[in-house]
Amino acid sequence: MPYLCVPEIFLDANATTPVLPEIFEVMQNVCCSQYGNPSSSHLAGTKPKKILADTRTAAAELFNVNDGRFIFNSGATEGINTAVLSALAPYTGSEQTRKCLLYGATEHKAVPEALKHWNQVLGLKAQLLEIPTNQFGELDLEFIEKNLSKALMLCTMGANNETGVVQNLEEVNSLLNHSSKVPWLVDSVQVLGKVPLDLGKLAIDYATFSAHKLYGPKGTGCLFVRDSAPYTPLQQGGGQECGERGGTENMAGIAALGRIFQWLKAPGTSPFQDMNQLLAYRDQILSALRHLFPDLVLNQPYPGSLPTTLNFAVPGFDSSQLIAMFDAAGIRVSAGSACSKGRPQSFVLKAMGLPSWQCEGAIRLSFGPASSPEFIQQVTQRIEEMAKRRNATATPTNNELWVPDPFALGFAGFADNVNKTLYYAGDILQVEQYLQQRFSNSEWQLTKLEAGKHEFGDFFFKIADANHFTIGHNYTGNALAFTSGGVVITEKQCEDVEIISAEEVIRRNFVLIDVRERLEFTMQSLTDTEYSVIESERHDWCRLALSYTHDKATEAAITVCRSGGRSLKAAALIHAASRAKVYSCSDGATDIFQLLAEK
Ligand code: PLP
Repeated sequence: MPYLCVPEIFLDANATTPVLPEIFEVMQNVCCSQYGNPSSSHLAGTKPKKILADTRTAAAELFNVNDGRFIFNSGATEGINTAVLSALAPYTGSEQTRKCLLYGATEHKAVPEALKHWNQVLGLKAQLLEIPTNQFGELDLEFIEKNLSKALMLCTMGANNETGVVQNLEEVNSLLNHSSKVPWLVDSVQVLGKVPLDLGKLAIDYATFSAHKLYGPKGTGCLFVRDSAPYTPLQQGGGQECGERGGTENMAGIAALGRIFQWLKAPGTSPFQDMNQLLAYRDQILSALRHLFPDLVLNQPYPGSLPTTLNFAVPGFDSSQLIAMFDAAGIRVSAGSACSKGRPQSFVLKAMGLPSWQCEGAIRLSFGPASSPEFIQQVTQRIEEMAKRRNATATPTNNELWVPDPFALGFAGFADNVNKTLYYAGDILQVEQYLQQRFSNSEWQLTKLEAGKHEFGDFFFKIADANHFTIGHNYTGNALAFTSGGVVITEKQCEDVEIISAEEVIRRNFVLIDVRERLEFTMQSLTDTEYSVIESERHDWCRLALSYTHDKATEAAITVCRSGGRSLKAAALIHAASRAKVYSCSDGATDIFQLLAEK
């Protein structure tokens, strides 16, 4: 390979985990040798029947259950829907307008969506009532207590998938009146293998589990149902699961689940690390992250959350920028949550009342309990490597135009490295907040540019007032206007940018302008290929746009990055400054690598 290709480090275990080889072996045996149908009455059905029974026994022992059962299903979403249907079905057709369905504000979306769906399908018209949380993500117990008497159902979770916040289920349990109890569902997906769960002690009626969060396959799980709780099957069929869940069982998945339960019952035999080791791992990773981002802010209570989950934000970055940086370093992490409407924001962090920049910039980093010390060392080394590369490029070394983020910040500066002075135009508050971070070295002086024209080498600044100025280039004649919101670009200028695919870029042999962050292209650089590439990170975009000339060699220059959004912005900026024809590549740098490698 003509370019740096780093091995992938997967740190998104709360989303899913790989199937461990030992579990794969168990599954392979079931698929290839013990493939009988447990419903068959001939001998081939005997072994699968035993797998079902053994897995159920292991689950009952692990969770200390003697008055409930485990129904195998496709995972937590099905479990949640079954539990909600079961709790609400007894009220079918009778409007329950004065009643409510209580659920935690930070539940996985499957919970409110299932409540909404079954409430409507069953014609209940009950009110969906979100239980607020405090800034640590803990449920408001007083709110639960106040509303419990009118609730048809209570839904809470063991641990949160985004923040790892572990709920105190014993406190919730103590609120329940055990004689006339409201059915209680606990989404237990994220606690499995990380926090003990005693279903013998807690009056939980339904608990959901999913195998793929703990090294099992996707599409397998089980639902615990207390014998005293109402139950209605979600699907009917050939009488499987004692008529409680129709459909031939996913035997390989159930055998995998059985192996996971067996391991958890006998920790000495399992590949899972104990709590203290996991906490030490998390400390190690956090300390490396702080070298990379000294101003990192945690979005979770540190004790009080899963030892395998970190959720943080970094001032000046949104989640997509951070994900792209980690991605380029071969580290797969996730945004706090998927985009809902407009800017992606984590509803979990919002419910905890965190500031919007933290909700927009949240990164979740999670590892599995079977992580080895070597794996964690690899993780910390990779992050330290990122930190080294970042520090090497954090401050400008030459005289240069410095516009850190023309689309978000209404200021621009020129760094005079000889006199260690940063001349700037724009909003002083933003400048202080942002530039002093970058130019923290006390040798640097900040000097505000007064109204009028100021020349700095090839560049000039024309200041009208604090909120209106222009930066330009003396020789190309290119210029960009700024207001307090950032650079001014018209809709037409954005529309002028033509969007093309990676294939088209290569076919037409365009010059590439790689507009990713330095961390991305230092980890995976297109300049390592034989292709013609200019690298320009965000703070350099204005310099490039102002210096850009529309000559034959660069006539068809295009910009490239992982997400179309960034590429489009940079392309529009170059077009606005130079009026040149600029294209934006809708595919990412990785696609271009791939195509060049295949050439
Ligand atoms: N609940 C929580 C807390 C989860 O993290 C997930 C998975 O993302 C689910 C429910 C849904 O699980 P499944 O993928 O098994 O449907």
